[in-house]
Amino acid sequence: MSLNVGILAIQGDVQENLLSVKSAIDELGIDGKVTAVKTPDEISQLDGLIIPGGESTTIGQLSLVNGSLKVLKEKIENGMPVLGICAGMIMLSKTANDRVIGKTDQPLLDILDIKLERNSFGRQRESFEANVSMESINIPKFNGVFIRAPSVSDVGSDIEILSKFNGRIVAVKKGNVIGTSFHPELTEDISLHKYFLNLVNTLKN
Ligand code: GLN
Repeated sequence: MSLNVGILAIQGDVQENLLSVKSAIDELGIDGKVTAVKTPDEISQLDGLIIPGGESTTIGQLSLVNGSLKVLKEKIENGMPVLGICAGMIMLSKTANDRVIGKTDQPLLDILDIKLERNSFGRQRESFEANVSMESINIPKFNGVFIRAPSVSDVGSDIEILSKFNGRIVAVKKGNVIGTSFHPELTEDISLHKYFLNLVNTLKN
């Protein structure tokens, strides 16, 4: 059956993820489409979703106001696969603290039992790229692009740690939900997008 994959298009890296998923669909030869989504109705029809990087406070507030936050939570709790990238991983978390200002009262989905430190590696000008590894999902080498990136400071017992960088957790997984601190859509490497699409495809077909 044809896959319906969405990129949450409230704010952030939407176009880049659309392109990465399109390439991944083509390379895998999957029958499917990817679209930018923002309304509760659009979200309710999806088989899989990417919450892109951007600014989690904005994504959270706007999705709360337009009613998407509630539908997102229901869909993910009912098994829809999700890839949360950077701000997207923050949205999936239970608790988010900012490195400088501490606890932030931002709307979160509370899907992954993880605590995050936002802007963990510094602000925009401290952005960097580094090799990371996600051995357990057969991606041994990946170019991690870190932009005002969070790190995971605490994980519940049901969370699988996919990757660490400099001793800090930068990618996690629980079932069909994946979160990364780094931005796979800003590299040429679409292996993580392909892995995610395979998850969506296996569940649907
Ligand atoms: N620092 C941003 C936040 O807290 C995330 C940055 C990003 O997604 N590149 O939302």
